[in-house]
Amino acid sequence: MGEPRVDQVGPAKVVGRLAPSPTGRMHLGNIYACLAAWLGVRSQGSCGVLRLRIEDIDTPRVVKDAGRWIMDDLAWLGLDWDGEVVYQSQRADAYSQALKLLESQQLIGGQPLVYPCFCSRADIRAASAPNEGDGFIVYPGTCRGLSHRIVDERLARGQRHSLRIAVPDQPDESDATCRFDDLIFGPQSFNLPRQVGDVVVQRSDGLVSYQLAVTVDDLAMGVNQIVRGRDLLRSTAIQMWIRNHLQPQAPRVQYAHLPLIDGVDGRRMSKRFGSPDLGSLRRDGWTARQVLGVCGWLLGLMDRPRPVSVQELLDGFTWNMLAADRKDRKLDLSKLNVSGAKPNL
Ligand code: GLU
Repeated sequence: MGEPRVDQVGPAKVVGRLAPSPTGRMHLGNIYACLAAWLGVRSQGSCGVLRLRIEDIDTPRVVKDAGRWIMDDLAWLGLDWDGEVVYQSQRADAYSQALKLLESQQLIGGQPLVYPCFCSRADIRAASAPNEGDGFIVYPGTCRGLSHRIVDERLARGQRHSLRIAVPDQPDESDATCRFDDLIFGPQSFNLPRQVGDVVVQRSDGLVSYQLAVTVDDLAMGVNQIVRGRDLLRSTAIQMWIRNHLQPQAPRVQYAHLPLIDGVDGRRMSKRFGSPDLGSLRRDGWTARQVLGVCGWLLGLMDRPRPVSVQELLDGFTWNMLAADRKDRKLDLSKLNVSGAKPNL
């Protein structure tokens, strides 16, 4: 893409990123992922650069002030970043330029790479095979084969639609399988037509999708190390497919996907389910060293939680330490010798 890079900071071998969504205050699961991303970069000393990107693209879900809380919490923990903060809400031009580039391309065989989809969520659910349990539904391709006449007619009527990026038709086509080596989960392989399908790049409300925004930003910011939860393994396959069409020669990215953290109720820690966030932990008297101790232990860097500094966690950090245990974790704060609400670490 001819787009200027978003102020890259000096020459670096590893460029990582923290990419929080300002949909609420960070909980321990978010901090655990930020800590791993921070350690991955800072373990490279002066050869590492860590960028901060506030993912405020999904405007209906953005919480006022959450970006500020996130930066305050990161600073309180000692998780620093380099250079200017990037806000997705300010990058609309880069996204529309990228969308145009995708729209100008075709799949092998002549099918347009991007096409309008008029399906509602209910249509898609009704036409889909049961998914693999992570809530992801492979789009059944309903609008992919619509004739030009029907598409033009619906567009002329102003019918609500999203835009999807097409993946190869046949599971055995040469480019149908996406492979990468994950620093934690090892070799990964996703068949695009079978396991991913045609994903949305622009939503029907006009906002660009998470998948497109993240891919465009990671390319523009020169990110070559991505650390996040294992629930995004499949997204990596999608993003690699988009990336290959935006900048086929771009350097390869190292991926590290982390086991997920469940709360006592067995549900994944999330802002939506009211997992304890840094606001309540700080109010309850937790120190930064205690929070880091719990997150370092969840990452597998210590055999039990105890207060630590980021520097102590950095000593001897390797990805292999994290790869030693790939099982999802269960976090029961009441078992951490919590006296009152404050942990007795
Ligand atoms: N903003 C996303 C989140 O907070 C991160 C997405 C990513 O790492 O690609 O879950």
